[in-house]
Amino acid sequence: MAKKPSRRQRPPRAAAFAVALALMALSFALGWFFGVRSTQFHGKILLVNDSHRLASDYVPEGLVNLYQQRHSFRLAGSEITLTRETYEAMEQMFHAAEEADMNGYIVTSGYRSYQRQTEVYAQSEPGKAQQPGASEHQTGLAFDVTVETNDGFESTPQYAWLAQHAHEYGFIQRYPANKSDITGISYEPWHYRYVGVDAATRMWQSGQTLEEFLGEK
Ligand SMILES: [Zn+2]
Repeated sequence: MAKKPSRRQRPPRAAAFAVALALMALSFALGWFFGVRSTQFHGKILLVNDSHRLASDYVPEGLVNLYQQRHSFRLAGSEITLTRETYEAMEQMFHAAEEADMNGYIVTSGYRSYQRQTEVYAQSEPGKAQQPGASEHQTGLAFDVTVETNDGFESTPQYAWLAQHAHEYGFIQRYPANKSDITGISYEPWHYRYVGVDAATRMWQSGQTLEEFLGEK
């Protein structure tokens, strides 16, 4: 029969406490790591286009009003919302832009409901807007940005900065100039989509669209 350990054989209380703390810190770090990494798996990246439509009742979880958050960018309105993760990544990105003396970004659009997209579609010229359910804006993961310019956003230094750095914060330029045959959307230099740093970096390096990256084209 095993003898009950005497008091002296037990680890000192402080050491046990330190081990418990270390285990807690480790599990927290692992949870954080895999939580962050999990957004980067192929199956979890939401593809929305004409042939992959969202349901009319799809509303992303955790939308935040950008106007009510700290923002290192201007807003075209006080009602623009995005998912919290998208907002946090974009705030980091525009804060970094500001530190690089790149200012004047104006966010013009974020989440758009199915109902709102129905109105936008009805009011647009044919081919100028996505059909309801086919707009990435319904994901809450995409936003439009511009600056005050007479020349078009694509010819501004702010655009050039995003083209070089957006992937570092998890964003892709979703509708590049030479890829409209794949995306089905003509060049939109102002439209950015959150996919996580890993996927964005790989797409930036390979020049792939989201459709190509996910093996859909
Ligand atoms: Zn857009």
